[in-house]
Amino acid sequence: MGASLTVIGAGLAGCEAALQAANLGVRVDVYDLKPQTMTPAHSNPNYAELVCSNSLRGAGRESAVGLLKDELRRLGSYLMDVADRTAVPAGGALAVDRELFAAEVTAALRRHSRITCHSQRICSLDEIGGPRIVATGPLTGEELYADLQQRLGQGSLYYFDAVAPLVAADSLDMDELYFASRYGKGGGKDYLNAYLSREEYYDFVRMLTEGERVIRRDFEPGEIFEGCVPIEEIARRGPESLRYGPLKPTGLRDPRTGRRPFACVQLRRDDRQAETYNLVGFQTNLTFTAQREIFGKIPGLRRAKFIRYGVMHRNTYIDSARILNAALQWKDNPEIFFAGQIAGLEGYVEAIAGGLLAGVNAAAMISGERMMTPSPRSILGGLVRAITTPVTDPQPVQSNWGLQIPFRTARQDPRRDLSRTESAEEITPWREMLQSRRRRVLLATH
Ligand SMILES: Cc1cc2nc3c(=O)[nH]c(=O)nc-3n(C[C@H](O)[C@H](O)[C@H](O)COP(=O)(O)OP(=O)(O)OC[C@H]3O[C@@H](n4cnc5c(N)ncnc54)[C@H](O)[C@@H]3O)c2cc1C
Repeated sequence: MGASLTVIGAGLAGCEAALQAANLGVRVDVYDLKPQTMTPAHSNPNYAELVCSNSLRGAGRESAVGLLKDELRRLGSYLMDVADRTAVPAGGALAVDRELFAAEVTAALRRHSRITCHSQRICSLDEIGGPRIVATGPLTGEELYADLQQRLGQGSLYYFDAVAPLVAADSLDMDELYFASRYGKGGGKDYLNAYLSREEYYDFVRMLTEGERVIRRDFEPGEIFEGCVPIEEIARRGPESLRYGPLKPTGLRDPRTGRRPFACVQLRRDDRQAETYNLVGFQTNLTFTAQREIFGKIPGLRRAKFIRYGVMHRNTYIDSARILNAALQWKDNPEIFFAGQIAGLEGYVEAIAGGLLAGVNAAAMISGERMMTPSPRSILGGLVRAITTPVTDPQPVQSNWGLQIPFRTARQDPRRDLSRTESAEEITPWREMLQSRRRRVLLATH
């Protein structure tokens, strides 16, 4: 097969798309800013960087994102395979060693005989012709975003998102921290917990609400993504809100009292060697000085060395309902596909899902084969339906059971076996189609 595809952006979506298309016999050119330059949130020279948390959220099929992972594995997702192989203990979640994960994905692209990687900032879609996948993510370079805006003919669509800090394990005071997972799930050493007394908790809430912020104004409703609200903004919503959010004490016992703690700060391992820990739910817009001062008041963190401070960023996405069809293809320019966060698929696993779909469909378009469009009875199809259905206030979408509500009677609970059975029924024919195409390519190349 002679035709080639260009993938712009080698993040989670772009890498999955490139590997999918290449293994379906298409030559792929991948363009990324890295390693020459980086967006404000990226720092690893490798591709497929997890910019904030190292968690891909729920591992089990009782959560919608867990079922999406299952669908992706069955469809032959390369990044899910790497995630499984680089997993670190994280209770009921799938978390990965971010360095290993990015290194393995990058190596897979670089050693693939049909993939060529280029370090280049793309400023306009005109720079490259032919079939393209735009997967430049939430921090798409300004020039390309302006170019897209002009072509797509819409006003800027963006909201703010925030990143949680990382601390060095050897700077933590282990006499004040306790290993435990909520409800004893997973391994006993998956999380470190700092238990706060009533006084410590309310003091902490007060400091958070008074702490100096980088973006000083109050945010408008809808300006911040609800799944990633900065910790100080949650504290501003009321003194109890953190105790029912990221500092909830449920499923834990303070060994000093044998009772449930008043509040708890959790630290999750960020790498296999347990050298760095992520402050769970501590995405923030506080200045670095305020983070050192305020987070340093948490028991066990008084001498904490910050490997990375929390930061807040612009987050861009297109109005997919107006622009894309169910194959993630631009309706007005079928040579161009969009994948990942820029298409409105919010979250690491959702970005991988978009990459898989766009990669498979771009390859299908090039080879004149049928495109993959799973029905919304699967989580993958439900996500695509959600972003391509017109609404007055388009927002990025994450996996959730509500995606399947239109296909349920009021008495059916989508969390039960029904969803899993239907997801399997929906995904199996596509899986067989892809397996047979990949086999054909393998036979033709050997
Ligand atoms: C600050 C922040 C924190 C987030 N935290 C989380 C989290 O904790 N958990 C979660 O599930 N999701 C999180 N997200 C949302 C989302 O899941 C991630 O951003 C995810 O990485 C999106 O994948 P992607 O492939 O669409 O984009 P990315 O992974 O960002 O990849 C885009 C790639 O395109 C490249 N690029 C950009 N512009 C150009 C250009 N002009 N030319 C060439 N290359 C370009 C970039 O260098 C990058 O490598 C976060 C998003 C942001 C912005």
